[in-house]
Parts: sequence; structure tokens; C-alpha cells
Amino acid sequence: MKKKVIIIGGGFAGLTAAAELCSSGYQVTIVEQRGFLGGRAYSFIDKHGNIELDNGQHILMGCYENTFRFLKTIGALDNLYIQESLSVDFLDKNGDVYSLDCPDIPAPLHIASGILGFSALSLPDRFRMLKVSKDLLLNKTDRTLEDSSITEWLNRLGQGKESRDNFWGILSYAVMNEGPDSASAYLFKNVLRKAFFSSRKGSRIVLPALPLSRMYVDSAEDYINKHGGIIKKTALVSGLIIKNDNVSGIRLRDGEIIKGDFYISAVPYFALKRIIPEDIMISHYEYFGVTEKLKPSPIISIHMLFDRTITDCIFFALINSPVQWVFNKGLIYRDKAPAGLLSLVISGAHNYISWSSKDILDMSMKEIEGIFPGADSARLLYSKVIKERAATFSPQPGVERFRPSRETPIRNLFLAGDWTDTGIPATIEGAVISGYKTAELIKKEPF
Ligand SMILES: Cc1cc2nc3c(=O)[nH]c(=O)nc-3n(C[C@H](O)[C@H](O)[C@H](O)COP(=O)(O)OP(=O)(O)OC[C@H]3O[C@@H](n4cnc5c(N)ncnc54)[C@H](O)[C@@H]3O)c2cc1C
Repeated sequence: MKKKVIIIGGGFAGLTAAAELCSSGYQVTIVEQRGFLGGRAYSFIDKHGNIELDNGQHILMGCYENTFRFLKTIGALDNLYIQESLSVDFLDKNGDVYSLDCPDIPAPLHIASGILGFSALSLPDRFRMLKVSKDLLLNKTDRTLEDSSITEWLNRLGQGKESRDNFWGILSYAVMNEGPDSASAYLFKNVLRKAFFSSRKGSRIVLPALPLSRMYVDSAEDYINKHGGIIKKTALVSGLIIKNDNVSGIRLRDGEIIKGDFYISAVPYFALKRIIPEDIMISHYEYFGVTEKLKPSPIISIHMLFDRTITDCIFFALINSPVQWVFNKGLIYRDKAPAGLLSLVISGAHNYISWSSKDILDMSMKEIEGIFPGADSARLLYSKVIKERAATFSPQPGVERFRPSRETPIRNLFLAGDWTDTGIPATIEGAVISGYKTAELIKKEPF
């Protein structure tokens, strides 16, 4: 008889574990509280504008190997826009463009060459940036950095204010969802090494070429259904039933109890805290206490539809702006996206999350008009501000000590999710890594 695996949560982590286990002969059931899958990476049709939007722009990188494996398995690998080589335009308030263009030569020479040509920085600053490259190459597993912030690490490497403001800060918000003063140098270094030093292709920017739910959720759902998986939506798990350090079932809000042989929690840390019984939280606080220690970091997305295209840049970063990135969806999506649709991103948005949507929109509009003087004659037809208050956990210095392994003190309960100890910040790739690793653990259990 097939062993039954119950997976709580249908985001990237849960879907990856489900796809892997159902294709390996397990009877998988995904239990998802919402009426749709995708977790923190989904799209929807906004009725007011009749427009398909992501809950937030997601940026992948060429080094997201596990994500590509998952997308290939479910048949969604073609739904991506992939750069030829790493190339990012940085725009300042005057609309001046500074390009980081990395030529088609082996890593890490391509990055070194890109940095040397990056005219947003003075020549001495560019040379000083090479010191960071040297540190990344020579000091590989630097756990002493676990308690340092990115700023402290960059200061030690002689990085001046200009390079911190015009480059490192923007990169920190992009990959860590936190500013350099509050983010772990250890995790940042892990990402930089993986993204920029493993291969030239690994550092390319990869973007969903379709709205997220059509990019991967629909294919994942089809794949799991075809392999005999069961997907229960609008099924909120209200608690795990645990006796003698063994899960005997999960209880849904409507009272239904679902039983399996193995259970995977693929929900965020704050959601796990709600479903762990109090006595288990107390008796295994050393393990489950992490759910009280991690803190959230917000992302705000501002979608703006103009009556015409105001830039032919596919995407760009903004220097010295509260908005870090702008994505030109009309050029990125391969179907249906209206020309003139821009998605702006404010990561690590602690300072703006309590602002009204109108104030956020006004501020974003000013940024856009400042960069593209012609934009004030373009008519804004539609806009939507989406605040994700708990977009990721905040990767503060010291956070690695808290992130839990996938094996729990409960014999048949395993954890997946971007917040578990993946060695990288909360990302799609982290979620997918955790999904695969958890599935591997279950496959090792006696059948
Ligand atoms: C706006 C935004 C922008 C982002 N940008 C990027 C980016 O550019 N690049 C990148 O790599 N990553 C990005 N991320 C992070 C990325 O989305 C996450 O790391 C990833 O989606 C997490 O997947 P997960 O499966 O671990 O968790 P989730 O996606 O949170 O999935 C957990 C699921 O569990 C369900 N659930 C929770 N509690 C229960 C319960 N009690 N019962 C049943 N179901 C439950 C939830 O509804 C959810 O569907 C971004 C995130 C946001 C919000």
C-alpha cells in the first residue's frame, strides 16, 4: 500500500515536496487554507482594472538550479525570460543611466569586468569593490560573519559610502529584503558567491514571462493531479494532533481530521506556531521556539498602468530612491500584458508599510516622473498598491542560529519552507531546496 503524506501549505515548498513525492509513489495530499495555490508567489485578476497582476514581482537568478529542476519537472521551464548575460541598468533621479554589463567571459572575470565599467561609482571605488570579490573567492565558509551586518562587513573591506548607497544597498534590499545595516553578512555572502562566482550563467537575471499563477502554479497543480495527488483548497489546518511525539492527524477548521503516515509543514513560521499544540511547544521549545523568534520583513508592490509605454527598459534599479526596482511588464510578459504596465518594488519596506496606498502611489509617481520627464504627460489609467507585511523573514545578523532543520523532534513531522535552514535568504530557491530536502528525508524512512 502507498504511504500517505499530508502536506500543509501549497506554496513553492509544499508544491515541490508534493511533486517529488507523488512521482516517487507516495499518496500525497496538499492541504491549503486559501482557495488557490502559490503561497506568497501568485497572480490574480484584479476586477477593477480587469488586469492580471502578481502579488509582487519575483526575480529569479540563473543560479536557482533547484527551482529550474522543479519547473522542468512540472513542464513550466519555458515560462521564463532569461537574460543572455548579467546586465542591469541603474537610473538616478536625473534619469542618467549607469549600466552594469558583464561580458560573455568565464566567472568571476565577467563580474570583475562589469564592476570596472560601472560608471555610477568613481574609479577608486570600483577598484575597492574588487576587494569584495577577492574576499568572496578566498574566504569561503566564513561563519564568523554570522553576527555581522552587511554594512560592518563592507566597512571592513573598505567600501565607501558611494558604493554602499549606489550598489550594495540596492543589492541588499533585492536579495535579502532588508537594508545592509540590518541584514546578515553571512547569508549575503553565501548568495553573492553562489550567484556571481559559480558560473557566468548563474548570475543572469531570470523573470517570470507570465503572471505567476500561469507561470508555475497551474502546471504544478496539473502535475500533482496527474500523479494521483489530492489537493484540498480552502482547508485551513487549525492544529496538529500529536501523541507520544508522533502526529496522528491534522484537524481542519471545520472539524475534519485527515490522517497520514508522514506530515510536512510547509507553512511560514508564524503559521506553524498557530498549529503546534501548546504542550508540544513547551516540551520542545528548543526546536519550535524559533517560530517566536523570527521577525517579518515587508515588501510593497506598486502596479501602474499608463496609457502608453514610457520606457523601453525591460527593468532597472533606482539609485537613491525609496523604490528600488521598476519592471516593465509590457515587455517582460509574453502575452496579454498591456503596454504601459509598470511594477515597482519597495523591499524591506518597514518605513512605508503604514503609509496609505494613496501616499505610496503619489510618492512612486514622483519617482517615475523625476526619471522620465515625459511621463507626466502619460495618463495613469489604473494603479494598485499591494502590501505584503510578512513577505519574508527578516535575515538579521545571528538569524542562522535560529533556522530549524527539516527533521523535527516529532517522529513523522518534517518542516519545509523558505525560513528553514537552507543557507540562503527567504527566496523561491530556498523554498524549493527545502521541499526537495524534506521529500528526500521522507524517502529515507522505512517504507
Ligand atoms: C511581494 C513578494 C516579493 C518577493 N520577491 C521575491 C523575489 O524576487 N525572488 C525570490 O526568490 N523570492 C521572492 N519572494 C519570496 C518568495 O515568494 C518566498 O520565499 C516563497 O514563495 C516562499 O514559499 P514557501 O512555500 O516557503 O511559503 P508560502 O509561499 O508562504 O506557502 C505557505 C502556504 O501555506 C499556507 N498556509 C499557511 N497556514 C496554513 C494553515 N494553517 N492551513 C493550511 N494552509 C496554510 C499559505 O496559505 C501558503 O499558501 C517574494 C515574496 C513576496 C511576498
